[in-house]
Amino acid sequence: MKGTIFCISGPSGVGKGTIVKELMRLDPELAISVSCTTRDPRPGEQDGVHYFFITHEEFLRKLGRGEFLEYDEHFGNYYGTLKDYVTMLADQDKLVILEIDVVGAFKAKEYYGASRKVVNIFIKPPSLEVLEERLQKRGSETEWQLEERRKRVKFEYGQADKFDYIVLNDEVPRATQEILGIIEREKNK
Ligand code: 5GP
Repeated sequence: MKGTIFCISGPSGVGKGTIVKELMRLDPELAISVSCTTRDPRPGEQDGVHYFFITHEEFLRKLGRGEFLEYDEHFGNYYGTLKDYVTMLADQDKLVILEIDVVGAFKAKEYYGASRKVVNIFIKPPSLEVLEERLQKRGSETEWQLEERRKRVKFEYGQADKFDYIVLNDEVPRATQEILGIIEREKNK
């Protein structure tokens, strides 16, 4: 169905960002939802492309106005999905990709209810050791932030069974193809 929303979710460091980038490269029909965050951009990240990088005050203002479909605090920063942004893309009959954490994916499904199809896809790492290695390699977090991410990983792992699909990220090209297959199937339902 056109206008379907696909949440690409899973634990921090599992490779959601890399997979989503590949999906966007391979399927021009997909449109990505850009979230707001109060964290600083990492090297190479662009405002309006990877996130809308906004101040804490601006975030709270938007929150007060009910502009977020869902939001959460991760590691001392706020992240939020803009209702209007996602709905606008879906209303244009785009296939919308949300790169989002596990709770955010559940909230998106709840928010749209029967009015839109929301398909939740959980990206699973080959093992917790691989995930830890990826988090370490990224090198963008302080030790405290890494510890917080590790704690969250355990919780997120336990939620996989509630997803519509679970995709193993053993190899990015393979996992990406599997997701493209899911999108194709869901699109034609
Ligand atoms: P990062 O700082 O690594 O870009 O993201 C940290 C966490 O925030 C990741 O698990 C990412 O999926 C999640 N995240 C990114 N955007 C949103 C959003 O709009 N809402 C929620 N709830 N989480 C988000």
